[in-house]
Amino acid sequence: MIDGSPYQGYLYAYPHKTSYRPLEPRPALADVWRDEPLDALFLYVHVPFCEMRCGFCNLFTRANAPASMVTDYLRQLRHQAAHLAFDGATFARAAFGGGTPTYLEADELADLFDICTSVLGARLPGIPLSVETSPATATPDRLAVLTAHGTTRVSIGVQSFLDAEAHAAGRPQRRADVERALGAIRDARVPVLNLDLIYGIDGQTPESWQLSLDAALAWRPEEIFLYPLYVRPLTGLGRRAVSRDDWDTQRLTLYRQGRDALLAAGYRQESMRQFRLPSVRDDGPDYSCQDDGMIGLGCGARSYTRELHYSFDYAVGIGEVRAVLDDYLSRPPADFGYAEVGFRLDEAEQRRRWLIKSLLRAEGVNASAYRKQFGTGPEEDFPQLAQLTTAGLAEPDGLRLTPAGLERSDAIGPWLTSVSVRHAMAGYQAR
Ligand code: SF4
Repeated sequence: MIDGSPYQGYLYAYPHKTSYRPLEPRPALADVWRDEPLDALFLYVHVPFCEMRCGFCNLFTRANAPASMVTDYLRQLRHQAAHLAFDGATFARAAFGGGTPTYLEADELADLFDICTSVLGARLPGIPLSVETSPATATPDRLAVLTAHGTTRVSIGVQSFLDAEAHAAGRPQRRADVERALGAIRDARVPVLNLDLIYGIDGQTPESWQLSLDAALAWRPEEIFLYPLYVRPLTGLGRRAVSRDDWDTQRLTLYRQGRDALLAAGYRQESMRQFRLPSVRDDGPDYSCQDDGMIGLGCGARSYTRELHYSFDYAVGIGEVRAVLDDYLSRPPADFGYAEVGFRLDEAEQRRRWLIKSLLRAEGVNASAYRKQFGTGPEEDFPQLAQLTTAGLAEPDGLRLTPAGLERSDAIGPWLTSVSVRHAMAGYQAR
């Protein structure tokens, strides 16, 4: 329903992980990857640790893990990586996410790079690498390890420059620590600094939002992501149930204010959430065929082949996250050689994935690239796109969202989701 709430769901990946189900029997990874192109893979490494659990976060992460657990995790990553070192595999891009990869100490980060280079053969430095960090962990010693290995982008979740707002979003932090971390990242001369802000926090006003926007712009980050706040099951905020009747209005108002402020400051809008300085080199759209080959390393990482998206088990609740992590930490090395839960994409789903991922970006769907890939045009395969045009949400060809469409991305994505994925997502028991 594109005419419902603009905030129905964030489709950062299609199909959503909640549509994954146990694969029985578990396919061997060697078979899963046997016929896949391996010449331009994406490497994603998941570090499931954070120094605190933010109230809005539904990512797979554990707060305040003891040092011994981090050591054990790195050992298991090395075992898992050994099963992913396919002959001829070449990585074109990489990302460390989580969690907070910089929860690892500097020497542990160096060990993580060694796994990527020595075991998997990734060229670091040499390929674009993005690493997520946090105000408390963006320290000079860790950043030095990142830059020594050619990190091209560091992304920091600030959320709000106002201490009270950060606290209301379930992320108690001090502005002084945020500013210190941003200074350290700039001192480290990482080429791209991305800064995340959140709007829709309880008590946030246009004035307070502007303070955060101005504070962010003072650093002139190469990228800024503006995230609407969601309250999701089993998160800290979910338990406090802060949603309000006028919340959609507040979020839409603050979104427009943020978008306009960033456009006026010279940023280009890449998607509903992403804004980037035009001077920043694009490392390629994330919906290309290249993206189909993603090798995930770590207990919460997804992997994508053309026909199978898979991962280990997934959880949000504190107890369940610990159980899945414990399972990962106690696995015998031979047990990393299989895909465990996943979703098989038939050709119709592959087309839908391409469409959704490209339509929700500002540049829209490249019809000739789509036709080259699938042999038909996106308008033929998805006649419902005409409804977007009729509603003023897309240009006349239906392949590029208007500003009104971009701000409703979180309604258009779910609207385009297939019945079978929707059905699987609805059947997922949050835990
Ligand atoms: S939002 Fe980021 S820092 Fe906060 S708990 Fe989630 S992964 Fe960790």
